[in-house]
Amino acid sequence: MTEPHEYSNLIGGEPRPAADGRTLDSVNPATGEVWARVPRGGAADAAAAVAAARAAFPAWSRLPAAARAHTLRKVAGVIAANARELAELETRDNGRTINETAGRDLPGMAYLWNNAAAECASAAEGRSVDFGPGSLGLTRREPYGVTLGIIPWNSPISTFSAKAAFALAAGNTVIIKPAEQAAVSSLRLGELLREVLPPGVLNVVSGLGEEVGDPLVRSRDVDKISLTGSVGTARAITRASADAPKPLALELGGKSPNIVFADADLDKAAPGVTTQAIFTANAGQICYGGSRVLVQRPVYDEMLRRMTEIAAGIRLGDPSSPGTGMGPIVSRDQFEHVTSYLETGVKEGAELVFGGRSGAAAIDDPALAGGYWVEPTLFATADNSLRICQEEIFGPVAVVLPFDTEEEAVALANDSVYGLAAGVWTRDLGTAQRMFRELETGTVWVNTFRKVLFPLEGVKDSGYGHDSVLAYTREKACVIEI
Ligand code: NAD
Repeated sequence: MTEPHEYSNLIGGEPRPAADGRTLDSVNPATGEVWARVPRGGAADAAAAVAAARAAFPAWSRLPAAARAHTLRKVAGVIAANARELAELETRDNGRTINETAGRDLPGMAYLWNNAAAECASAAEGRSVDFGPGSLGLTRREPYGVTLGIIPWNSPISTFSAKAAFALAAGNTVIIKPAEQAAVSSLRLGELLREVLPPGVLNVVSGLGEEVGDPLVRSRDVDKISLTGSVGTARAITRASADAPKPLALELGGKSPNIVFADADLDKAAPGVTTQAIFTANAGQICYGGSRVLVQRPVYDEMLRRMTEIAAGIRLGDPSSPGTGMGPIVSRDQFEHVTSYLETGVKEGAELVFGGRSGAAAIDDPALAGGYWVEPTLFATADNSLRICQEEIFGPVAVVLPFDTEEEAVALANDSVYGLAAGVWTRDLGTAQRMFRELETGTVWVNTFRKVLFPLEGVKDSGYGHDSVLAYTREKACVIEI
């Protein structure tokens, strides 16, 4: 067997191992085998990355917008030229199928970086205020300085790009902290971008949250933080940054309702609430996954029948094979988290309508028996207070609940500490418009799901703030007496 490839951090334009040489194993979740090693960074690596980003800030922030835009377009070119390799690394690292990483995620990223390039100029636009003769007020938009993007494992290149491209477009320098479970694609992207970005403008430091993330968060030389992650991490970051306060953007979890009204086109709604929303290529490991399916009673039995039929047709298998419908759960810890809810649902008295098997029992390929497999699983209950209805499972597990009236659907949908997204399936434009208003979520999709429109921002425990060019600037008030 060949030795797993070892990846490096990117600090000040140089590939570097962790200062103390420690590494973390990167496990292929489809097999359970170690396939790569990544740096296990600590306080020294955090300090080095902050110093490099700080040193690079004056020159980068003073570049004319057109010059920054030119560089960001080169980044888009590098991503496009290396898209297949990055997609394969991500698929091997977190189990999202190659159909999605190569077919959807990577093409979208070149587009995102080009968009950020196009918005460089708007980052410098301020307002002017007329104070009367001889007096003028104006606002200047300025970058924050050094920004820190902390990213999760479920969609590394996308979250890396959303946190780096807009921040760089606005003139900030950036540190990306990838998740320990799936850092490889981010580290490789950092390595590739050495060719086009000046040293220190973008830094990538991998390691555990408590070991390298925490010192980055506490640093007085980090001026803004954007986290995509769990509510628990958001709480830790909020506390840790209290002594050196800085703006936070927190893009957190969800328990999204997907509401099917009796007048909906069921041919669209059935795949819409299953393969589009929760039984996805990456096994439902999506922040806005539609994990609660609310179905109006006249179509409840029919929807349950259709959802079961779709779930039964999903093929679990090697995520790097184009024929695979659903990949594994990212890690052993996360697998145990998800499977614990399979037991919880049964214990709580929900009806197990389909699925429920996990590990080797869920996969018929012996070569993948060591992987972290969970079948698409459907529970049914009328009790939205159950833990499986309230807590984020972050796997291919959906709970189906019946409702009678529109008011009841709204009450059930909003009965959650989360408020990230919601889906609505109806032919009635009046219903759709009322749902836009009534649902306490950052996004509402009607007759579709997972069609992301920025800003992707949550309410309640799903967080606040988002990534965009303007969000990476602050507005300075300037007044002049002439
Ligand atoms: P997580 O919160 O465990 O980890 C996210 C990142 O935070 C990792 O890089 C981790 O190392 C880092 N981290 C952990 N503790 C830290 C600390 N004390 N200081 C600094 N950094 C720290 O989340 P996860 O398990 O990787 O991802 C799953 C979660 O992310 C789910 O809750 C999911 O809903 C959420 N998510 C949200 C969105 C969104 O856009 N709203 C998108 C994807 C995932």
